[in-house]
Amino acid sequence: MTHEIAVIPGDGIGKEVTPAAVEVLESLDIDFEFIEAEAGDAVKEETGEALPQETYDLAASADATLFGAAGETAADVILPLREAVDSFVNVRPAKAYPGIDAVRPETDLLFLRENTEGVYSGHEDRLTDDVSTLTRVVTESASERLAEFACDFVADSDKHDSFTIVHKANVMRETDGLFRDTVKSVADEQGIETDEVLMDAFATRVCLDPEQFDVVVCPNLAGDVLSDLAAGLVGGLGLLPSANIGPERALFEPVHGTAPDIAGENVANPAAKIISAAMMLEYLGYEEESEAVNAAVEATLADGPRTPDLGGDASTEDVTAAVIDRL
Ligand code: ATP
Ligand code: MG
Repeated sequence: MTHEIAVIPGDGIGKEVTPAAVEVLESLDIDFEFIEAEAGDAVKEETGEALPQETYDLAASADATLFGAAGETAADVILPLREAVDSFVNVRPAKAYPGIDAVRPETDLLFLRENTEGVYSGHEDRLTDDVSTLTRVVTESASERLAEFACDFVADSDKHDSFTIVHKANVMRETDGLFRDTVKSVADEQGIETDEVLMDAFATRVCLDPEQFDVVVCPNLAGDVLSDLAAGLVGGLGLLPSANIGPERALFEPVHGTAPDIAGENVANPAAKIISAAMMLEYLGYEEESEAVNAAVEATLADGPRTPDLGGDASTEDVTAAVIDRL
């Protein structure tokens, strides 16, 4: 069976790390058809559109999408692309790697963030010059969809057996209250153990002792902020992957952006994008291959070669070749 993969490198180092990930995937014995499409600042300059219709359509029909990064036009590109795959959950692992400087090297967390509502889909208004408002939306159906994903994820995993619900339902009783109650009742029905922590307390506790948490399920804004906080604990954004999962397709992207300061120099670290590709392998059912790619990246991070961001002098291509060698 051939898997149709949309490849959207975008701008900046997206153009360097995305082909690196494709090269790693091509070295595996899996039947992929890669279809490349444009998005971002460069295509906007040429055509006036940051996300051409054909790119959107490709992401909406491919089995999975590999996205790199977009510059100034990021919001015009990634928000519609997430919508193209109907992504309802953003999966963000935050794991420290051996040999990489981290504030909390023992961190190994996995965030499941609601990806469609909360304040980000809310409606903002400017009532008068000096008064503005924001209405947020939380629905039972979106909370249920996330909870079902979290339960299936935990049930299918050898490594995880429960999850923590993070919220602020003591203050936002209606919105976070509905979120918390819905997620908890789905988990109870499915026999999955959960605990809950208020989001402010979570921020402190995860810094002091990240090992007390494992899988973390949160509303949109809390998930955005807290997963970035966790990125700080493991040594910054440079190595972190993410997945936007929908009911029928998914989009995989590194957490970092276009890094204009180093773009075009063949020194970008391809690790985050290659780990995102490993998440895609797992999503498509190739668990062994996914683990092998992760192990090859981990060994390369630990033993080199390394790109300059990690203190080495290797190029993007050297690191990619080393990962493929280890495979
Ligand atoms: P954008 O606006 O597209 O997010 P940015 O200037 O915020 O761009 P990021 O890509 O978010 O840049 O990264 C911040 C900094 O971290 C970069 O300037 C770069 O020096 C470093 N960095 C990020 N990703 C990588 C990578 N893959 N390899 C090496 N360095 C990186
Ligand atoms: Mg940035």
